[in-house]
Amino acid sequence: MNSLKVEHAASQGDIVRDCPGTKNHICCGYKTIDLIEGCALSCSYCILKAYLNSPSITIHDDIPYVISQIDEMIKKETGHILRFGTGELSDSLALDRQYELNRPLIKFFGERKRALIELKSKWAYIDHLVPHLNPYTIISFSVSPQRIIDQEEKRTSPLYKRLKTARKAQDAGCLVGLHFDPVIVYPGFERDYRYLIDDIGRLLDMDRIIWISLGMLRFPQKLFSHFIGNNRKNLLHGEFIRGEDGKMRYIKQQRIKIYSMLYRLLKSKNKGLFIYLCMEREDVWRKVTGMTVRDNEALIGLFDERIKNLYGGNI
Ligand code: SF4
Repeated sequence: MNSLKVEHAASQGDIVRDCPGTKNHICCGYKTIDLIEGCALSCSYCILKAYLNSPSITIHDDIPYVISQIDEMIKKETGHILRFGTGELSDSLALDRQYELNRPLIKFFGERKRALIELKSKWAYIDHLVPHLNPYTIISFSVSPQRIIDQEEKRTSPLYKRLKTARKAQDAGCLVGLHFDPVIVYPGFERDYRYLIDDIGRLLDMDRIIWISLGMLRFPQKLFSHFIGNNRKNLLHGEFIRGEDGKMRYIKQQRIKIYSMLYRLLKSKNKGLFIYLCMEREDVWRKVTGMTVRDNEALIGLFDERIKNLYGGNI
């Protein structure tokens, strides 16, 4: 799995941080735990290529130090239920069987019962974690049509394995998350996404999906020439604009149309699903969901409400 060189770093500085979000877009207030920086899965569109300078993978494995930072953040927060994740600068599960970094975190969150940790992945293996899982861990998978997995996420687990593993996590007592991110436009993508959502409806317990995110392909401008140079045709369909944050994204009209299609298809499987847009603006939110989500605080409020509905007084 890890063809890249792995280095162990002395833990210092802020490993637990606010997700940087994107200028002038609505952010969900996520907290990132940068346990691992770098990823061996090498998806063709991965924006880590633009952000991380090192060709190797760095692991911060001083877990007591990391947990003390998480605990500090939980103690300081009085208004909201915090959501943490380890999948921002890497894949949460790809190296976990080997390094077992998640187990002490799962234990900590299970005992603390005040916040959630999300393990977000494209690597469908949780057998080593199953005996330790508790309801304060969210196992999440990024999902794409198998055609995209075959062509752009070549080292990752196939779709059916991701969904079967998500089901395994549900059966072990966890809620799961799904991330349609990045949604990629290519000829015939509508049909493939319809089949993907049918598979989700068939394989998962829809009442035990805590959240689903929708985020369309976006990337720093410098990756554009990289995609052209590497002939990544799937990543270059559609019309792109450069946003205020410097990132390339599909034009707004196209984003709204595609989000609306996915939103409708998902809600047709289960009306109660909690679906959010990743890094979008108020007008896009309104046109897709019919909801007014003015700012970060409003979106964080929606997450609080969702979690309270599912956990009752147990958080
Ligand atoms: S799994 Fe995520 S972090 Fe890893 S290469 Fe793919 S997009 Fe990047």
